[in-house]
Amino acid sequence: MDRLAVRSVLEHIAAFLELKGESAARVRAYQDAARRELAATGRSSTLDELREQTPPGLAEMLRISGLGVAKVRQIHERLHIESLAELEDAAQDGRLAALPRFGRKTAENVRKGIAALRQASEVRLLHHALDEAQGIAQALAELEGVRRVEIAGSVRRRLELIRDLSFVVIHGGNGMREALIQRLDDAPGVIELGGTEGSITLRFASGAVAQVFLATQAEAGLALVRATGSADHLAQLEARLTGTGPWPDEESVYRAAGLPWIPPELREGMGEITAAAAGRLPRLVEQRDLKGLLHCHTNYSDGTTTVSEWADACRADGYEWIGITDHSESSAYSGGLRSEDVTRQHAEIDAVNRRFNDFRVLKGVEADILADGSLDYGAAVLDQFDFVIASIHPRFGMSETEMTERVLRALDDPHTTILGHPTGRLLLAREPYAIDLERVLQRAAERGVAVEVNADPHRLDLDWRMVRRARELGVTISLGADAHSVAGMTNVAMGVAIARKGWLTAEDLLNTRDAERFLVYA
Ligand SMILES: [Zn+2]
Ligand SMILES: [Zn+2]
Repeated sequence: MDRLAVRSVLEHIAAFLELKGESAARVRAYQDAARRELAATGRSSTLDELREQTPPGLAEMLRISGLGVAKVRQIHERLHIESLAELEDAAQDGRLAALPRFGRKTAENVRKGIAALRQASEVRLLHHALDEAQGIAQALAELEGVRRVEIAGSVRRRLELIRDLSFVVIHGGNGMREALIQRLDDAPGVIELGGTEGSITLRFASGAVAQVFLATQAEAGLALVRATGSADHLAQLEARLTGTGPWPDEESVYRAAGLPWIPPELREGMGEITAAAAGRLPRLVEQRDLKGLLHCHTNYSDGTTTVSEWADACRADGYEWIGITDHSESSAYSGGLRSEDVTRQHAEIDAVNRRFNDFRVLKGVEADILADGSLDYGAAVLDQFDFVIASIHPRFGMSETEMTERVLRALDDPHTTILGHPTGRLLLAREPYAIDLERVLQRAAERGVAVEVNADPHRLDLDWRMVRRARELGVTISLGADAHSVAGMTNVAMGVAIARKGWLTAEDLLNTRDAERFLVYA
C-alpha cells in the first residue's frame, strides 16, 4: 500500500473514532495499531469494524460538503439524528439552524448538500451512464492544461447499474494542479466543486455528479487503476504491489504486482487476480468477433424495420448473417406472426437472399413458451424455421418449481435453439421471475441449447454473474440484440460488455460462427 492510501485509511479511522467521541490520544493509539496492521497485511480490521459500528447515515453525512466530523457529531448527539432523511427534516424545521455554531446559512447549505448527495446516488442504467460519462469526459478534455481524460469507475467496468461517475484527468505537472481545479470549477455546466485533496467532486447543472482524480502523466496508470477497480480488486492488487513507480500506464502497475494487464470488466475481485497470476485469464470476446446478429424483430411483429432493410444495415455493419426472429402467434400483444404470415415472410427472406452472395438472412422465430412448457405453433410450423428462440412472455407469476419445470420442458423440445432472456428481468423496473437457474443452465448444457444474453440495455439478461457460471457448465451463449429497429443494433455493444464481464471468449458465443456453422448448431 502506498503512502496516500495509508493516509486515507488513517483519516477514515480518525473520523469514525471522533464521531464516537473518542479522545485525541485514543485516536492516535488506534492509528498506530492500524499503521502496523496495514504494513503487515495491507488491510485494516479496525476500519472494517468502525464502519460496521457507525450508523451508515452518519458516514453519509460526512460526504455533505461543509459538514465535518465535529458538526456531524453535534447533530447526532444533540438531535439524535442518524439518517439523511431525519437531517433533511431538521434542516427544514429550524432545529438544525438553532444548534450552536450552525445558523440559517449552514442549515440551507446542508439542505442543498443532501439534495446533491441524492442526485449522486441515483442509480442509472449502464447505457445512460455511459452517454453521460462520454459527454463529461469530452467537456473536461477541452479544458486548458488537460492532456487526457479517462472514464473510470463502474462505467468502465461495465456494471449494469451505475451509481457514480469517475474520471481521471491527466495534466501537465504538479504546478498545474491549483489552476486546473479553478478551471474545473469554472467549466461549463459545473455548479459546485467539492471534495478532498485526493478526489474532486463536480456537480453539474444536469444533476450529474462526477468524481475527478487529477494525475500527472507519471501517476496516470496508478490513478486509473485505483479509480476503476472494485474495492475487492484493489485490496487484492495492492497486497501484491511492490516498488514506488512511476506508473504511467496500467500495464506498469499490474507488472509491479507480477500480473498481466487485466481488462476493466473483470476487475471485481472475483478471482481475476488469481487467474491472472496463473496465466489463466480468458481472451475476452470483442465486438468485431461477431459474425451474426441474432434476435431481430421486423415489421411482421412489433418491429419497424423490414427484412430487406435489416439485411442492408447488417451487411453495411460488417455482419455476415442475421437471424430474424419475430414473435409467435400467441403473442397477440406484440402482433405475433400467424401461420400464414410465416409463409409470406419466408418468401420475402428468400427474395432478399437472392440479392446477395456474401450475406444471409436466416429464418428464426421468438416462440412463446406456453404455460405448460410447450412451444407456440407446434412442430409442423416450427419445422419451417432455421432456428428457434424460446422465450417466456406472459404468465410470470408462477412458483419457482412450476416456472423451472416450464422452462426445462421448453429446453427438451428439439426445436429450441436458444433460450431467450432467461429471467425476464427489466432493470430498475421488474424483478426476475422465480426460477432455478442452476438447473436451467445444467439442462441447457446437456441438451446443447444456447442461453441468451439479451443485449437490450433494460434487460441485460442473463446476468453477467450467471454468464460466468454458464461458461463453467459449458453452456453456449447467444448474444441477442432484441432489436426492434436498426437503431437497436447499438444494443450489441452492451451485450458484448456483459459477455466480457461474464469472462466469455469468442468461442463461447454462438454469434461468432459463420452462418453454416450456426445452422449446424441449430
Ligand atoms: Zn422476448
Ligand atoms: Zn424479442
